[in-house]
Amino acid sequence: MRLELLEYYLLHYEDLPRCAQASLEWLARHAGVRRSICLAMDGDAGLLVGVAGVGVSADDLEEYSAPLSHTHDPLVRALTAPAPTTLRSGRDNGLARHPGFGSASVLAVPLRGDRHDDGDAVGLLLVKAGTPVTGSVNWLATVLGQKLDQIRGRGSLTEELRKLRRERALFFTIINSVTDPIMLTDTEGRLIVANSRAEKLFAATEEESEGRRRAVELNNMLFSAALSRTVVEAPSEARELLLVDPSDGSDLLFEVLSTTVEDPREGTGIVSVLRNITDLRRATEQIEENYQRLRVAESAVRAERDRLNLIIDSVADPIIVTDQSGATVLMNDPSEELFTVAAEAPSTAQRTVQSNDAHFSSFISGLLLGESGPGEIRRGEIGLMNPLSGEPIPVEAIAGKVLTETGELTAVVTILHDRREALERTRLYEQLRVASDELQMRVQSATAELATQNELLRRQAIELEQASRLKSQFLANMSHEFRTPLNAILGYTHMLLQGVAGDLPANIRRQLTRIDSNGRHLLTIINEILDITRIEAGKMPMQVSEFNLNELVPEVMTELDPVISRSKLTVTSRLCADAPVMISDRQKVKQVIVNLLSNALKFTHQGGIEIGVDFDASSRIATITVTDTGIGIAPEHHDKIFEDFRQVDDSPSRQYGGTGLGLAICRRLASALGGRITLQSRLGEGSTFTLTIPAEAPQ
Ligand code: ADP
Repeated sequence: MRLELLEYYLLHYEDLPRCAQASLEWLARHAGVRRSICLAMDGDAGLLVGVAGVGVSADDLEEYSAPLSHTHDPLVRALTAPAPTTLRSGRDNGLARHPGFGSASVLAVPLRGDRHDDGDAVGLLLVKAGTPVTGSVNWLATVLGQKLDQIRGRGSLTEELRKLRRERALFFTIINSVTDPIMLTDTEGRLIVANSRAEKLFAATEEESEGRRRAVELNNMLFSAALSRTVVEAPSEARELLLVDPSDGSDLLFEVLSTTVEDPREGTGIVSVLRNITDLRRATEQIEENYQRLRVAESAVRAERDRLNLIIDSVADPIIVTDQSGATVLMNDPSEELFTVAAEAPSTAQRTVQSNDAHFSSFISGLLLGESGPGEIRRGEIGLMNPLSGEPIPVEAIAGKVLTETGELTAVVTILHDRREALERTRLYEQLRVASDELQMRVQSATAELATQNELLRRQAIELEQASRLKSQFLANMSHEFRTPLNAILGYTHMLLQGVAGDLPANIRRQLTRIDSNGRHLLTIINEILDITRIEAGKMPMQVSEFNLNELVPEVMTELDPVISRSKLTVTSRLCADAPVMISDRQKVKQVIVNLLSNALKFTHQGGIEIGVDFDASSRIATITVTDTGIGIAPEHHDKIFEDFRQVDDSPSRQYGGTGLGLAICRRLASALGGRITLQSRLGEGSTFTLTIPAEAPQ
């Protein structure tokens, strides 16, 4: 790597500033000395001048100059010193500060040539104080000293430098006057020359803020990347490059145009011109955005218009939109049927349309001439006609003004509402009202009639009730009156049959027996009639006592034992293990069971009869069923047999005797006990009568 520098010296062996510059750059690259200055002695002019610098500006470099005659000058003193000298800031330095080094102290290393072994140096190498003068720095000081010494003998350095500086100044004036950043870089993107605009973006000194340095670093990276792409992909094409403004961190968009330049001495370099297109891009984006907004707004307007059209078209009533002069702007299909007509339509239709138009226009002009104000609406009735049928169409027109924000009239929207239906409804309503009034009158008169009838019925009911009471009373009285003599007849007959009047001849005994039997039958009838009348008159009050059905049923069977024996039927009982203690009217329950068992015996000719007792503990309901295998009852007679004096066979020639009062009495008794009697039977298949009563009779 040292060879690299020596080669450079050979190549540019006559050019002192160049060799010095290359040396310092080498030092920066290989020894990390980022800031250095080289001063050389110009013997002819008697001056020590700055000829090259790294990390310092050209202006700063010019500050490093001192006449050799000023032996007290720190730089001249350092030149003559045998070893490197440290120049402290401000004190032993003629320059208040060290331009390019800021306030830091500077180390001045004397550069000596071969021919001046006596100790006089030919130049100075200035680096930041503290840089160790070993290895690379030492070596460079030696070779650079020799090189300076060689070149020094070949002419006036000052003259050359002056020329060079003039050219340089001119060059920088030119490139700095260009507002776009311009720079020359090596192929890797490292800055060789840059105008001040480019420096702002790509160069920063250590004194500058951290943020700015970072931005510059980032810009350098971005630029090198872009440059390498340019070189590889399309060298002559302009490219866009996004950089960061180191002063405020904002994005800057550039267009980069790079050209490769070949220099016989410097090798390949790339000149790049950056054109700031940030504003241009922003403006383009703004235009694009505005254009997009415009398009969105346009499509919104279109959608709105379509929606409006859809609404207008979907309304069944005619809608017409007119402008401020009354000219039609828009109308829906129903309107077109009223206000437009085909050219080939008959003249009557044409005339009708004209007349419709005239009516409508005069209605609208009324609104247009009137005072304008927000939301002003006009209502009115217009007589139009159907152009095709000539049928009159009375319409109600409602017109509203559409005003702009500033209150200017832009349009009038009118809706026409067909009033035929409403008128028809009114007519029907009127008819309905008349009919309703009529009906009301009829209802009133009917109600009055009904009231009269009701009153009549009420009176009749009272009369009937009285009659029924009288009948019951009469029956009760009669029965009572019948019983006394009947008992006397039966008593005497019994006595005669018992032989109180001596033995009776057989034929008289036979007739007396008939008297006795008929008398008893009559007594039964009278007793039953008496029972019914007593129940109805409420003269059979409840006699509640405690008893057990398991005892009552056998008792009934014992009582009817003579009849059972005569019948030759098997009569059995099915008692209930958990039969409760009944709290009810024992006599009434017994009477019902006797009656049901008597009927079963009467209407059964063969087979058997069963009396069953059951109890449902949860509902506390007891049931007594009497089931026989007798003649049975057809379903249509099931209700009838419970009515007073009713029998299935009530013909005069009937086979079975009886009054037809037994079941009627049973029904009344069951209901007095809080229960009821039900029947299951079919003709010829026997019958089951069930008495259902609560274990505790209602009070
Ligand atoms: P009757 O005094 O005529 O028996 P009931 O009121 O006790 O009056 O009975 C009315 C009628 O019901 C009877 O005439 C009979 O036709 C019918 N009937 C009653 N019980 C039975 C039964 N167990 N089998 C068939 N028919 C019956």
